Amino acid sequence: MKQVKNEMKMEFLASSSNEGFARVTVGAFVAELNPTVDELADIKTAVSEAVTNCIIHGYEQKEGSIWIHCCIDGQQVEISVTDTGKGIQDIDQAREPLFTTKPELERSGMGFAFMEAFMDEVEVVSEPWKGTCVIMRKTIGQG
Ligand code: ATP
Ligand code: MG
Repeated sequence: MKQVKNEMKMEFLASSSNEGFARVTVGAFVAELNPTVDELADIKTAVSEAVTNCIIHGYEQKEGSIWIHCCIDGQQVEISVTDTGKGIQDIDQAREPLFTTKPELERSGMGFAFMEAFMDEVEVVSEPWKGTCVIMRKTIGQG
């Protein structure tokens, strides 16, 4: 297997119309690692969940920017999704399956659970009123 090193950064408006753009762009970027259909779907779903959270929770559907940084090192991909929105008060509680602060919007509280299920590692760094950064890692080709 060839040793790949690659990196990309993108910034876009926190609009739901950019969710598809973000997942497809990250998917295209990781394609050089020859992921399986399932691995690619996992990465795209994890990116969608993180981006949706920035839009719905970070900026509460008001204007803002989202940054994605992707690094490929060998067979590992690291993806960080960052907003400068309202931040998370209690990160451990937010990561619990079925916990949501927006039940009125019919959120199910499963976004972080999906990110954890689909990626090898998920780190969450957040500060109230400064923003949130979700860092996800996955090694491709583990069978
Ligand atoms: P679902 O993802 O199933 O639609 P959800 O978004 O509420 O529901 P999670 O994605 O697991 O569930 O997030 C859990 C909680 O963490 C959210 O309800 C919200 O309070 C908080 N949260 C997640 N991401 C952010 C963010 N970027 N900024 C602020 N709060 C966030
Ligand atoms: Mg969510």
